[in-house]
Amino acid sequence: MKTANFIKENNARQFWQPMTHPADAQANPPKIITGASGVRIRDIDGHETIDAVGGLWNVNLGYSNDAVKQAIAGQLDSLPYYSTFRGTTNDAAIELAYDLCDFFAPEGIQRAFYTSGGSDSVETALRLARQYHKLRGQPQRTKFLSLKKGYHGTHFGGASVNGNNKFRTDYEPLLPGCFHIPAPYTYRNPFNETDPARLAQLCAQALEDEIAFQGAETIAAFIMEPILGAGGVIPPHESFMPMVREICDRNGILLIADEVITAFGRTGAWSGSRLWGVQPDMMCTAKAITNGYFPFGAVLIGARMTEVFEGDTSGKGAISHGYTYSGHPVGAAAAVVCLKETLKADVASNAAARGAELYSGLQALAAKHEMIGDVRGGHGLMAALEVVADRASKAPANAATMNTVYETAYRAGVMLRISGPNIILSPPLVLSEQDVADILSALDAGFTALG
Ligand code: PLP
Repeated sequence: MKTANFIKENNARQFWQPMTHPADAQANPPKIITGASGVRIRDIDGHETIDAVGGLWNVNLGYSNDAVKQAIAGQLDSLPYYSTFRGTTNDAAIELAYDLCDFFAPEGIQRAFYTSGGSDSVETALRLARQYHKLRGQPQRTKFLSLKKGYHGTHFGGASVNGNNKFRTDYEPLLPGCFHIPAPYTYRNPFNETDPARLAQLCAQALEDEIAFQGAETIAAFIMEPILGAGGVIPPHESFMPMVREICDRNGILLIADEVITAFGRTGAWSGSRLWGVQPDMMCTAKAITNGYFPFGAVLIGARMTEVFEGDTSGKGAISHGYTYSGHPVGAAAAVVCLKETLKADVASNAAARGAELYSGLQALAAKHEMIGDVRGGHGLMAALEVVADRASKAPANAATMNTVYETAYRAGVMLRISGPNIILSPPLVLSEQDVADILSALDAGFTALG
């Protein structure tokens, strides 16, 4: 076991962090987190903060869920690994598939395909979408449409449908045949439309136009997050996803809901699709499926897909795709218990109640601090503040400003996530009223420090 001094001295030296310039990490070493309990994390110097990031949108049940820890330990004892590739499977993976299909029956889910995380889930869904159309004798349906500002992970498929150039340009050329439509982002959009319902209609029309331009017969799927997450927590008007579903149906296009963040209660509903009353053809899940305690994911598959793959008699319905860790028994055992714990604690209701308090508290902060340009939330514990240099120009706040808010809040006892000009809030769903009040007061301190 190395000493704390050794760990600090080697911080930002031997490993490159995701989404970080190695030189920046050396100049501003990251905070070293060494412990956690409940909704709090502790750094190497013993400073404790509420984790308003929830790990990375995934630690919905907090850090002290003994049932999940015991399930992981128990599974490591009985069967630490066995493959689910053709010919073998494992009991935990079977139990989990049953539970997931039961839990997501309102979304029309009938089958599960396991992955090792969110990017794998997106890649899997995109591949299955193309295979689905081939099985139906429409091999020319290969293109994908998605939303600007969407985030779908970092594999080449996901990066190609990502709607933020930050995650794309350094890795080009990406997958050909991927096109983006404007996001229903009321604060900034190409239509200068501030009414959410009218904006939803304009974005849906943009989808129709793009389909007509590309030719519906060339498009495999439209992929969207029910609430844009990493793009800055952008909830659409409630009419948007149902309109998208209808457009996809009318044009023979599959709808993939990327629910890597929104599944399992974060939005105050059990999934983003359920929140908007939509049944997608596939749902990508990961993150909270194991509460962040084990890397795991699943693509959940609806009736349209099931019918075509299982009805295939040509042999072409074989799924030539999968991961060594698809259906990992330890992840599956963790997920089985996570689902039970999620329901037992009814985290969706708590997310809705605490989320409403957080959202109104954020609006009160915006009334007090001019630099808060936009407040987004209102659907569970998923919220963001967009910070601007001034409200009239809406020029995004600079990195120094964001850092002041971040460091001040950290000292005041709250870990925030900064993404460009956005402060993202996605705390564990087991948050208390007092925790919400503490997050708001740390944010207040952060903005007050800007003078
Ligand atoms: N899809 C969405 C909506 C996400 O938010 C993320 C990650 O944040 C991913 C996909 C990628 O998941 P992972 O980082 O587990 O590969």
